[in-house]
Amino acid sequence: MERTIIIRYGEIVLKGQNRRFFEDKLVKQIRFAIKDLGDIRTYKKDSRIYIDSEGFDEDQIVQRVKKIFGIILISRAIRLPVDFELIKRTACEEIERKHKTDGVKTFKVDSKRVDKSFPLKSPEISREVGGYILQNQSNATVDIHNPDVTVYVEIRDEAYIFVEKIKGFGGLPIGSSCKGLLLLSGGIDSPVAGWLTARRGLEIDAVHFHSYPFTSERAREKVLELAKTLAIYIGSFKMYSINLLPIQQEINEKCKEEEMTIISRRFMMKIAENIAINRADAKALITGESIGQVASQTVESLHTTNSSVDLPVFRPLIAMNKEDIIQLARDIGTYETSILPYEDCCTVFLPKRPLTKPRLEKILTSEARLDVEALIKNAIENMEIQVISIDDFI
Ligand code: ATP
Ligand code: MG
Repeated sequence: MERTIIIRYGEIVLKGQNRRFFEDKLVKQIRFAIKDLGDIRTYKKDSRIYIDSEGFDEDQIVQRVKKIFGIILISRAIRLPVDFELIKRTACEEIERKHKTDGVKTFKVDSKRVDKSFPLKSPEISREVGGYILQNQSNATVDIHNPDVTVYVEIRDEAYIFVEKIKGFGGLPIGSSCKGLLLLSGGIDSPVAGWLTARRGLEIDAVHFHSYPFTSERAREKVLELAKTLAIYIGSFKMYSINLLPIQQEINEKCKEEEMTIISRRFMMKIAENIAINRADAKALITGESIGQVASQTVESLHTTNSSVDLPVFRPLIAMNKEDIIQLARDIGTYETSILPYEDCCTVFLPKRPLTKPRLEKILTSEARLDVEALIKNAIENMEIQVISIDDFI
């Protein structure tokens, strides 16, 4: 008997020919995530992944693996020979353990016979194992419909027994799609937007705009902190930092006050597009915009911003409510950092009454007063590039 962790992945199975490619990616990512925990055998078998965890820190393994996209279920399990007496005894011990640790009073047995040469059918296995537990363990009774715990018994070339199914985030493994460039601010929304698109398998690089020295060093550290939290899920990535101040000063001088936000937003998009195409090899931009959240996110504003670029812009939060975004930010672990009260580059020249219904033609006319090409070129020439890597697993 030995301990193993069973990892199940969902959608990958549907991907026909590419399935192997996805599975291999997943195995690699799991190995990477747990590599400092020991020499832990991790491999693909039976359309799932096993992590042979005997003697290793299972809680840590589960914590790490839970954050990998593409995984739907995780179960700490016992692997044992297909010996029915041993199986019954082990299942019984598991219930006893759960009774002691979690006070469970009711149980059911859920069996799966994969090896059809095993003489008992699945329901018969459940009945026999359940009967054995009832006879040998005075604390727990059966409740088929609403048990405190389900003991799963699987008969394959070996047998597996487990009492938990921990939910993963699902989605697709990072790198199963191309790359997107995330416009990462210090706010609540954009880290969540990056996380959601990464969960669909997209690799991510990020671009951040600041207005140093108007925005502080601490504001910069805040974004770095957010980026590092994202790296826990998406692996190391590049972050491009751009000083938007010269552009904002130019807009401030030559355009109407109320157009400040929308025109700087258009610059952000254009710069991001330029980096995506020329540096990052990214095929889409990602933002944390959501309809109506602020003046720059009305439908008219979104249209005006959108028209500044040709690359597709992914806005995974577009129809989400703020409470739901906040809940996700908490789950991911970015919320506490996002609410730290440091200034953002957008707040530096915040107009008193920003346009809520900008007209594209008018904005284009205003923009024509600026040397857009030169401003973009200059901003990109002065950008900094950092590699964000995982400091610490949380
Ligand atoms: P967030 O919480 O992500 O900051 P927000 O509600 O503050 O969003 P806006 O400030 O209007 O909204 O920004 C909308 C989107 O534009 C952000 O989600 C982000 O993708 C992008 N963005 C805004 N400011 C910056 C910045 N300083 N650097 C990079 N991207 C930015
Ligand atoms: Mg913001």
